[in-house]
Amino acid sequence: MASRPSASAGRLWRLPLLNAALAATYVLLAWVATRSDPSNAILWPSSAIAVFGVWVLGFTAAPGILLGAYIANAEVIGWPAQTALLIAVGNTASVSFAWWVLRRIRQPWRGLQDTGDTLAFILTLGLLGPAISASVGVISSLLAAPPRLHDIGMLGPIWLISDACSVLVYAPMLVLWWERRHERLPRPTAEFVILPLIALVGVVVLAFSPPARQALPLGLASLALLPLLWGAMRLSMRLASLFMAVLFTLALVGAALGLGPMMVLPIDERASVLQLLGISLACTVLLASSLAQERSLALRQLREANAGLERAVERRTKAMVKSQRKLQEQLRFQDSLLGALPNPTAYSAANGRLELVNQAFTRLMERSRDALLGRRPAEVFEDSLLHTWTSMDRQLHVERRPLSQECRQVSSDGEATVWIVNKAQVTDPASQEPLGIVTSLQDITQLKRLQEQLERDERGLRFLVEESPVPLVITRVHDSVQLFANRAADELFRADHTGRSGKLLRDLWVEPAQRRSVVEQVLREGVVRGLETQFLRYDGSPVWLLLSVTHTQYRGDEALVFAFKDITPTKEREHTLRALAYTDPLTGVANRRSFLARAAAALQEAKIQGKPLAVLALDIDHFKQINDVYGHPTGDRALRSFSQVCQQLARDDALLGRLGGDEFAIVLPRSDDGAAYDFAQRLRLAVQENATAEHAPLRLQLTTSIGIAHHPCEHLTECGLDDLLARADQALYRAKQRGRNRVELWTGHDHPGAA
Ligand code: GH3
Ligand code: MG
Repeated sequence: MASRPSASAGRLWRLPLLNAALAATYVLLAWVATRSDPSNAILWPSSAIAVFGVWVLGFTAAPGILLGAYIANAEVIGWPAQTALLIAVGNTASVSFAWWVLRRIRQPWRGLQDTGDTLAFILTLGLLGPAISASVGVISSLLAAPPRLHDIGMLGPIWLISDACSVLVYAPMLVLWWERRHERLPRPTAEFVILPLIALVGVVVLAFSPPARQALPLGLASLALLPLLWGAMRLSMRLASLFMAVLFTLALVGAALGLGPMMVLPIDERASVLQLLGISLACTVLLASSLAQERSLALRQLREANAGLERAVERRTKAMVKSQRKLQEQLRFQDSLLGALPNPTAYSAANGRLELVNQAFTRLMERSRDALLGRRPAEVFEDSLLHTWTSMDRQLHVERRPLSQECRQVSSDGEATVWIVNKAQVTDPASQEPLGIVTSLQDITQLKRLQEQLERDERGLRFLVEESPVPLVITRVHDSVQLFANRAADELFRADHTGRSGKLLRDLWVEPAQRRSVVEQVLREGVVRGLETQFLRYDGSPVWLLLSVTHTQYRGDEALVFAFKDITPTKEREHTLRALAYTDPLTGVANRRSFLARAAAALQEAKIQGKPLAVLALDIDHFKQINDVYGHPTGDRALRSFSQVCQQLARDDALLGRLGGDEFAIVLPRSDDGAAYDFAQRLRLAVQENATAEHAPLRLQLTTSIGIAHHPCEHLTECGLDDLLARADQALYRAKQRGRNRVELWTGHDHPGAA
């Protein structure tokens, strides 16, 4: 490649030196070329040196070329100074301009790489440069009008041919060798040694043969084209250009010495013919060599591409082998996986033929794997399995979803087994097209037997539950829907009643809060036992039940089992007994014991709250006479009438009780003596008005006397119910004494013996 002068300081000194060397070489070659005929050089090799100069140094070679050309023209040829300078300027400018043009038309310039570069080189540095140089030279010569020129009209072409020949023959050799391009030189085979040698010898013989007057040797000279072409095509461009330069130099030397075939021509023509031959041969060699170079480059690229292709193929092959190996491993793994499956499993292709079976399958079929693979179902299966198998395959083609079906089979030893046949389609992952069917069999014989046993057990159990006298209801936990109720439960809740519609068991609880807490307890602890609770039947009637609940699973649902016992009669009896214990059977008001207990509690509360409380003691006037005159039953009616009047008039918080005989008492909470007195008066009047003893046709009017005591006591810091009752009694006694049908307040002066 052309090296550019660097601006770096280290290389600055090299440029003048190189220019000086260039100028010296230029002059030396001019001197050599003009040895035979100083007025007419047969060749001007200095032009090749000028081209080499710009090639290596670029435009910085101009001073060297200018100096060399000037000295050569002035001193070696003998031109006058001015003419020599003009010619030198022409020589320098022409080669510089041609170099510039070359660089412009071949961008980027990479040297003689291909035919385009070579052609550009021939046209610019080989022809354009010499043409300009010759033109300037001719003009300069004319200006100087040198007397030595015989034919001024021929000067331009001769000059051009001479320069072009020099450049085209020698410059490529120089630059190619100077660049030391990494060309692959041919191996030194016999061909590359012997043939150039023969060509060399031939040229030497021809060029240095004695001068002849016939034209035949000229024709023979053209044979030089053959070895040159061979060299251009077979050798590297570097060797070819060297070979060309050597052969041409030999021919030139022969001609210069007056030998060889050119001697038939006059000296001027001889030189021009030789130079023209040189030009055409050099162009031929360069172009042929470029072509050969391009061809070998293309071949090399082709070979490299081929090698790349081969490498890629090799890689691909390796990858394929690897993936094939992997595939085989996977297949082996699949095979062992299939073999390890405990359930009989098979894969059949789209045409129905078995393609894969595992050991469990071969055992079940009692056939070898080879006897199964590739067979159709009809060839290997018994009737029952065959029917299930083929009908499922058909169904699978339509529905394309996994299927399961039960199948009963009888083995060769007559034992019946039950299988679940599971089938699923295998599809291509990419296209989703069905590839085949995988079938897996599951032995459920034991399970089936167990199931049948269970069903029998359940039937028995169900009968027991349904016929059980214990009412049983099963409800679902999450929505309380009734899942089951036995006959006894339906009877208990009167389920045939029309009001049942839409009602759930949970709607029958009298206290919904109790239901919630029972359900929570059952879900937490699993069971609740012996809870007495009241329900409503579907017809709305109340019923007392003893309840036990447990948490269970019923047909897949989380459920609660309710067991009931109707305890309504017991409860009613209990209620009656309790009523008897606390009420007076004749009048229905509280009996003495009950009254005393409740009155004591009321007094206690009044004391805590700091509220007043009054106690009234009542006694029917002359009651004994009624008994005596009209009989005991009339007396009883009188007692009932009296107590009814008292109940009607008493406030809600008032406590009424019969203490015995015709004696009654009333406790009035939150009443002081004034309020109690008012109430007693109203009561006394109401009795007088309304309390009667019917003794048909008579209607006996009753009156009552009332004594009042109240709490808090003014004289005693603490007084109990007994004290209050005693005081009320004392006041009553006073009322009796003072004529009856009266109300008296306890004053503190009363005492049992007082009047
Ligand atoms: P007084 O005005 O002083 O109270 O005179 P009295 O006649 O009412 O005399 P007293 O209160 O002592 O009489 C009570 C009578 O009540 C005595 C008894 O025979 C009667 N007696 C008690 N218990 C019953 C009962 O359960 N039924 C009936 N018919 N009479 C009863
Ligand atoms: Mg009485």
